[in-house]
Amino acid sequence: MKKPIPVGVSPRHVHLSKEDFHRLFGPDDTLTRTRDLTQKGQFASEQFVTLATPVGRIERVRVLGPFRNATQVEISHSEAVRLGLNPPVRDSGDHEGSPGIMITGPAGRTEISQGVILAQRHVHMTPKDAREYDVIDKETVFMALTPPTPKGMKSAPRTLIFGDVLIRVHDAYRLDFHIDTDEANASGARTGDQAILFKLGTGPMHSERQYYPQKRLISEHDVRKAIKEGLTILIEAGTIITPSAQDIGRKAGVFEYR
Ligand SMILES: [Zn+2]
Repeated sequence: MKKPIPVGVSPRHVHLSKEDFHRLFGPDDTLTRTRDLTQKGQFASEQFVTLATPVGRIERVRVLGPFRNATQVEISHSEAVRLGLNPPVRDSGDHEGSPGIMITGPAGRTEISQGVILAQRHVHMTPKDAREYDVIDKETVFMALTPPTPKGMKSAPRTLIFGDVLIRVHDAYRLDFHIDTDEANASGARTGDQAILFKLGTGPMHSERQYYPQKRLISEHDVRKAIKEGLTILIEAGTIITPSAQDIGRKAGVFEYR
């Protein structure tokens, strides 16, 4: 079995654009670091904002740094319910069609028209880690989480398996499985607990296989696209597969040989 991956629980937070920061905290304030986060360059600030909709409000939402091009609000599903919102599950930075919200700071307020998301659970890793775990960027995997049982009393284990966990590969990343507070509470996990990455056999679990458009030459681009869209690539006599496509496709199990 591959070595376990540490869990990092992300409580609700906002990433602000520079303009929105100054709207909320005034023209002279600066974003002040209190603690570095696991991923390089990311930090928790000592500043907080309030989120509000006509239905509800949530106070003490921490601002993370550095600034982003577009303001992004990451909350749990339970918090979304309190706000009367139904945000989509998204990878960071993908805001299209997501709900907006009113954000209030000590010096002012700003209403964003989109940017409220539930973060897609994900694992950060380096290319070296990716080779070790036999995964590629943007692939989705399963993570099994068994939090430690309380000391000194009898307690059954409570393993929770998370599906649709997005793999994110970058040289600067540090190995970490990021979940939100709902996901953490559902499993009883805390930051620093460990989870096991695994993949099921080839093909989708439920539903019939869907196939990638048939081509004579299969490139790495085709394979990545097929993996992303959950499609199977049919390999017939005479189909040519580039070496890199071969490598990635075999590992991901997207080929079906006829
Ligand atoms: Zn993350």
